[in-house]
Formats: sequence, C-alpha cells, structure tokens
Amino acid sequence: RFISLEGGEGVGKSTQVTALAEALRHRGKDVLVTREPGGSPGAEAIRSLLLSGAGDRWSMRAEALLFAAARADHVEKTIRPALAAGRWVLSDRFLDSSLAYQGGAGGLGISQVRALHRFGSEDFLPDRTLVLLLAEGVERARLRDRGESDRIGGRSNAYHLAVEGAFRQVAREEPGRVRLVDAAGATTSVTGRLLTALGDLL
Ligand code: C5P
Repeated sequence: RFISLEGGEGVGKSTQVTALAEALRHRGKDVLVTREPGGSPGAEAIRSLLLSGAGDRWSMRAEALLFAAARADHVEKTIRPALAAGRWVLSDRFLDSSLAYQGGAGGLGISQVRALHRFGSEDFLPDRTLVLLLAEGVERARLRDRGESDRIGGRSNAYHLAVEGAFRQVAREEPGRVRLVDAAGATTSVTGRLLTALGDLL
C-alpha cells in the first residue's frame, strides 16, 4: 500500500511519519519511509535546487514543474519498485502538497497542478492520503510558542490558511483517498487517529 502524510506548518507531521511507520511495522508491515521533494537520487538533486537560493529564485510555474519532475523520478525509481516488492510506502508529502502549495497558495490552481501530475507520473496516486490539520486557534498557539507569531518561513498567516483551504478542497473532491485528521492532542492520540483513518487498508 502507498500512504502519504500531509499537513501545513507546525502540525507535527515529521513526528507522526516516524510514529505511524513504527505502528505499521508493529502490525507486521514492511514499511519504506520516504519524502517529497526527494526520495530518489534524481529527486534529491532537484530538492537541493528547490531549497537553495532565495525564496523567489523560481517562478511559480518553474517551481511546480520542478516538484512534478522530482515526483516523477521518485515514483518511478523508488515508490513503484517498493510496492512491486510487496512493501508499504509511507511518504512525507506527495502530490497533495503541490496541489496545496503551488496550486492553492501559489495561485496556479489545483487543476493545473493535477495536469502536471497526469503527465509526469501518469496520475499515480496514494491508496490513502492523511492530512494533519489543526484548528486555527491551536495552530496560532503553537506558532506563538515558537516565537513566530504570524509568519513562518517568511510566509504570512494568509498563505498558510490558503494551503489549509486547498487541502480541505482536495479532501472534498476525493473523499475516498484523502482524509482530514485532527492533529491536536498527544502524539499517541494523533497516531491512533491516523491508524483509524487507514482502518480499511490494514
Ligand atoms: O515537509 P516540510 O514541512 O519539511 O516541508 C518544508 C516546506 O516545503 C513546506 O513548509 C512548504 O513550504 C514547502 N513545500 C512546498 N511545496 C511542496 C512541498 C513542500 O512549497 N509541494
């Protein structure tokens, strides 16, 4: 099975990737943990292009194409072979991050970014996508705790709300694949919710 884990800033996604992989292994699954952008040598090279330089180095269209190219390589070189070998694949971000960041917040539109994915990766999709979301008030509190009152990574709160809005829209468009999961509370409670949202696949 192919599972992707998504979410905006400060929702505890990295912690949950590790915890969910552990929980799946405990259930006897052979799990490959991977990430996007990256996850294959070619895609990691594209990742360093995306992360190096100033935030405005790439136009939004160029950025979306680089993400789509990295994903194409990641799918072909890493994800498909692992699934063919009978493994479970858990990816820290996948297509839905591009739909939310480049498509939603970046203004390209969700359908345009979907079109890139249809070409780049032949519309290859996760069996389930889990989107970690916090109620706005809780998210603000976490950011305040980090001393980043209304901007993270140099981006405004409005930007982050646009990301979240796009995740919610994709969940409405594809209720079978995409599930929203409340990211509030103890780590173990959140992992429990993620497992519940995978229930039919386990
Ligand atoms: O997964 P992580 O939180 O480390 O991602 C780092 C950043 O990469 C995110 O905050 C987001 O701004 C950016 N990103 C993006 N478009 C994607 C995936 C990630 O802008 N498709």
